[in-house]
Amino acid sequence: MKKQKIIILGGGFAGLNVAQKLHNKFFDVILIDKLNYHQFQPLFYQVATARLEPANISFPFRKIFQRSKNVQVRLAEAIEILPESNQIKTTEGYFNYDHLVIATGCKTNFFGNEQISRYAYSMKTTQEAITIRNEILLSFEKFICATEEEKEALLNIIIVGAGPTGVELAGSFAEMKKYILPKDYPTIDFSGLTITILEGSKNTLNSMSHESQKASKKYLEGMGVKLKTEVFVTDYDGKQVTLNNTETIKSKNVIWAAGVTGNIIKGLTEDSVIKNRFVVDRYNK
Ligand SMILES: Cc1cc2nc3c(=O)[nH]c(=O)nc-3n(C[C@H](O)[C@H](O)[C@H](O)COP(=O)(O)OP(=O)(O)OC[C@H]3O[C@@H](n4cnc5c(N)ncnc54)[C@H](O)[C@@H]3O)c2cc1C
Repeated sequence: MKKQKIIILGGGFAGLNVAQKLHNKFFDVILIDKLNYHQFQPLFYQVATARLEPANISFPFRKIFQRSKNVQVRLAEAIEILPESNQIKTTEGYFNYDHLVIATGCKTNFFGNEQISRYAYSMKTTQEAITIRNEILLSFEKFICATEEEKEALLNIIIVGAGPTGVELAGSFAEMKKYILPKDYPTIDFSGLTITILEGSKNTLNSMSHESQKASKKYLEGMGVKLKTEVFVTDYDGKQVTLNNTETIKSKNVIWAAGVTGNIIKGLTEDSVIKNRFVVDRYNK
């Protein structure tokens, strides 16, 4: 009997799990990802704050499936689904499938604000976490020779969004200020380093329990993190953040952790995508 071919788009938590479950089963599986490694996203903040090396949270697909006879890996970006011919168009050509698993995850949502997307950092890939790490470390070096005016912007780290990502990052930067900077820069005064979280809702961890909201606020404030809730960032030009109450804050380092939106691949009917999410039935189909 001919084996059926399953294509899995995306090797994040979802796609990788499906591929692993199908290892040694009676299917030919092709895992397609635009990266050749799985990224362990919950620890991005550790890379961004120089606690972990990128290699600690990156797992090459070819190593994972080294011994697999039925799971193949392809490095390619999926561009379009062609359901009428059961094909996927990718940057590396066309692939045929009998069954298709879409597991392409999501990306940062800047809510259409191009200026903010140009200047703020986001943290949805290992590469972006490395960029944050490098730019923040560079700011500490620049601070040493900066003018008084430049110093303010270099010392203000602003995190937009008090969800889990924003809260973890802020806590980790606060620890860096307390434990690492005095050791690495014994002659430089970093007491002016400010870590601020800007959040649109009333609470930190607003989608979690009341206890989590209270505890996160208490711990962050105890660590010296400034919390501004019920404010929205309306603009950022690489030097200054503007809030909806017209307040402005100088900052060279703004990290946008305020939301995500789906990585949609074109080709399916219009009604199968609503608000950048694939519509699925109770079987996730
Ligand atoms: C900073 C951060 C911290 C987090 N912390 C936690 C946590 O503590 N606990 C928790 O449960 N969750 C956490 N999450 C959320 C969790 O990581 C996601 O829910 C999970 O990764 C979603 O898995 P996924 O497989 O749907 O998508 P992803 O893991 O995003 O994987 C999508 C994959 O698809 C690939 N891809 C995308 N588009 C294409 C394309 N067109 N062609 C080919 N490949 C493509 C990508 O390269 C990627 O490998 C965190 C997320 C972030 C960003």
